[in-house]
Amino acid sequence: MTKAMVIIGAGECGGRAALVLRDLGFEGPVTLVGDEPHLPYERPPLSKEAMTGEAPAIKAIASDEILAERSIRHIHSVQAVAIDRAAHVVRLSDGSALPYDKLLLATGSLPRKLPMPGLGARCVYLRTFNDAKAIHAHLRAGNRVAIVGGGFIGLELAASARKLGADVTVVEAQPRILMRGVPAEIAEIIHKQHEAEGVTILAGQGISAIADEGAEVRITLAGGLEVVADLAIIGIGAVPVTALAAEAGLAIDNGIAVDAELRTCDPDIFAAGDCCSFPLAVYGGRRVRLEAWRNAQEQGALAARNMLGAGEAHAAVPWFWSDQYGLTLQIAGLSDEGHSVVRRDLEDGAFILFHLAGDGRLVAASGIGPGNAVARDIRLAEMLIAKRAKPAPEALGSQTVKLKSLLAA
Ligand code: FAD
Ligand code: NAP
Repeated sequence: MTKAMVIIGAGECGGRAALVLRDLGFEGPVTLVGDEPHLPYERPPLSKEAMTGEAPAIKAIASDEILAERSIRHIHSVQAVAIDRAAHVVRLSDGSALPYDKLLLATGSLPRKLPMPGLGARCVYLRTFNDAKAIHAHLRAGNRVAIVGGGFIGLELAASARKLGADVTVVEAQPRILMRGVPAEIAEIIHKQHEAEGVTILAGQGISAIADEGAEVRITLAGGLEVVADLAIIGIGAVPVTALAAEAGLAIDNGIAVDAELRTCDPDIFAAGDCCSFPLAVYGGRRVRLEAWRNAQEQGALAARNMLGAGEAHAAVPWFWSDQYGLTLQIAGLSDEGHSVVRRDLEDGAFILFHLAGDGRLVAASGIGPGNAVARDIRLAEMLIAKRAKPAPEALGSQTVKLKSLLAA
């Protein structure tokens, strides 16, 4: 009997999963349900190139033509509101019901809200294309933009806002920007670049009050300083979207909990992408949740294979990038697994920090430099991490030893 595949969440992960089901030759019904009004689209450009052009444009993951050609039914602007696991049915906000044989939850994450009174229409978050359009309208010469949170969203938006001529102040509660997951040496380069471009960074400064009063927003910092802006953009992290899964009785553990095959505690329901936590094989099964573009793609594809019965375990090494001005940061692996660091200098001021565990195993590599300067070596480092290699620190640090030769060793 032909099975029905239903995917909830038409983002990076859900869109990819639908396409891969067809790539693998699945011929039964594939339905992709999304609550946004758009085709599945890429989010990374929203804080970068889409924010610096004349007007943000959607970069679709799959066009209407491709979805039609592949017989993928895309239901947009509709939310999945309940899962009846016993009946194998998903109930939608338009009152309809979708039967499934296998279900994938790819519900993503949403911006963490600043838990504070006083926020109004001039205090905004960035997650969706519609958010990006609203923010873009305010980024122009002479406008004052306050960014709360010196993480990836905040800093990428700061770079884009400067490019459009806005005055930018970033407020970060931690003692430095990019405190989680980015080594201090690299964060310092990014910090200096922002300052050189005219951004004011106020780190180690919690917020004690926000007043969103008509024409402007007043942000009072714990030390008493006041930042006045035309727009406040809040980028203080993301929380996984788990309510639908939780209400259906699925296990939640910092996201929808899945096993190495991305299966929830219900064998017919999978979860993947930003919304799920999973055991990461390369670090001995440590449970993590990743909020990164490539992870969403890889897990969407893996979930599709496993919905068709492949029984394949997740084995990828985490990887992500960030672009700010002409600088690109790339990190492979999880640097908090490291005990010591070896630096390797590359051309044009670029460098890579290799993070080694106590037993000498390479567990992560963090690189920064202009354009694609670190891409090749980070890719090789990723392969070494996947191999659980223990390269000699002197070789990693030497500009004359090719990383490729360490892979062969
Ligand atoms: P999402 O892309 O969030 O998609 C989930 C979709 O499901 C959403 O459309 C949501 O509305 C929908 N949904 C949720 N619940 C329901 C429901 N009940 N019914 C129907 N639909 C539902 N990562 C990087 O590695 N590098 C970058 O440079 C980078 N830049 C980024 C820039 C921005 C501005 C943002 C927001 C993210 C960026 N990321 C980046 C992170 C990356 O985009 C995410 O990790 C990725 O989008 C996650 O994909 P996902 O499909 O899991 O979730
Ligand atoms: P993030 O990278 O986690 O950064 C949020 C930052 O805000 C952290 O440094 C956080 O500090 C700080 N913060 C938290 N509460 C604060 C407060 N009350 N006042 C001031 N600062 C505060 O998250 P994000 O930048 O908001 O990004 C959101 C999502 O978009 C994530 O899923 C992210 O992966 C994704 N994204 C990724 C990229 C990329 O990978 N290049 C680019 C853009 C967006 P703590 O560490 O103390 O919480």
